[in-house]
Amino acid sequence: MLNRLKSLNVQLIFAAIFGVGIGAILNVKDVPQEASILYLSGLAGTVFVALLKMVLIPLVFLSISVGVSSLKAHVNMGKIWRWTFGYFVFSMALAIATGMVLVHIFKPGVGADLSLFTSAMASHQSPTADVGNFLHTFIVTLFQNPIAAMAEGKIFPVVIFAIFLGVALIHAPNVERLITLLQEALEVVMKLVQFIMRVAPIGIMGLLITLVATQNMALFQQLGLFMGVVIFGTLFHGFVNLPIFLKLTANINLFSYWGDLQRPLLTAFSTSSSSATLPTSLDTVQNRMGVDKSVAGFVLPLGATVNMDGTALYEAVAALFIANLVGMHLSLTHQLVICAMAMVAAVGAPGIPSAGMVTMIMVLQSVGLPVEAVAILLPIDRILDTVRTTVNVEGDIVGALAVNKWIGASEKSAA
Ligand code: ASP
Repeated sequence: MLNRLKSLNVQLIFAAIFGVGIGAILNVKDVPQEASILYLSGLAGTVFVALLKMVLIPLVFLSISVGVSSLKAHVNMGKIWRWTFGYFVFSMALAIATGMVLVHIFKPGVGADLSLFTSAMASHQSPTADVGNFLHTFIVTLFQNPIAAMAEGKIFPVVIFAIFLGVALIHAPNVERLITLLQEALEVVMKLVQFIMRVAPIGIMGLLITLVATQNMALFQQLGLFMGVVIFGTLFHGFVNLPIFLKLTANINLFSYWGDLQRPLLTAFSTSSSSATLPTSLDTVQNRMGVDKSVAGFVLPLGATVNMDGTALYEAVAALFIANLVGMHLSLTHQLVICAMAMVAAVGAPGIPSAGMVTMIMVLQSVGLPVEAVAILLPIDRILDTVRTTVNVEGDIVGALAVNKWIGASEKSAA
């Protein structure tokens, strides 16, 4: 028993249960924000996230550049690229399709009393981004001085620079020492991650207490059906679509799959950040699930910023929900535009809390829906973000496992 309690996974589960339980009690008792228990849980959560962020930039930079450069040794380099991107598009499209079907069945927002939201709408400042602007800014910000981007913690430009560096390392002659140096630096950063994971139970409990204790429960009830559809759809994708895909394409043992996934999924759930979860998912996938380092180092960091199944589903469902709320009829073409924009918005959202909320604006604008309606979604976003981030991370891990299996199989058949 004592040994089981010592296991980090068991500690994490207890931490999550206590976190949600204590948070719910504090919420019901209406404990003031400045109470010392909330202060302490807030502090524990903030320090944990700060520790994860501390290693994030070196980790992303090193794992992508090492991941790409070690594709040099792979006869299958081209396949890894193609399969990874093919998988990203496929899994996000599947998530969006799941969400669309559910919205059509349950019709959240149809016949709702809009006056419920008048005050929220009135106090909300409408953001002014449009699709053209968004794409322009997005593309321009991809290419930056890497040192400045690292110092400012901007993940996307760091990802792009690391890919370029990795490709250059593949093609440059006599750079084996530099590649080895980068590989060793990555090992050291991964060790740091393992140290940080030792305090994860405290951090996760702190984050969940603060999150649950400070939410407005009354609002959840009003938006219940919409939240139900998003949560059910996201979980369906995570519990049914992704595992079936994995079973069919890579024949993975699902029992050990769920056991191994606990740690990254709980971290994703409590931090609401794919990027902050990256250290944990890399550690799990390489050290527990046996995925090749070059595959994991390529698929996971890229997936954490690009591949977001839960976010894509959320963006599409939310746009249709808003259309129902304001009584706007959407033609099939409009709905297809929403699907495409939901995918672009998910790709464009960085792996940080509530990022999907910001890129939501372009999805709404693409079919002329009022962007002010974001005000309705904002108060419930933190709760929904927990679930969608968890499935975002699961989608990345499934990608790493599938690509790893396919590469292994094609190498075997080539041998
Ligand atoms: N929080 C999500 C993530 O990190 C992004 C989002 O807001 O949808 O994956």
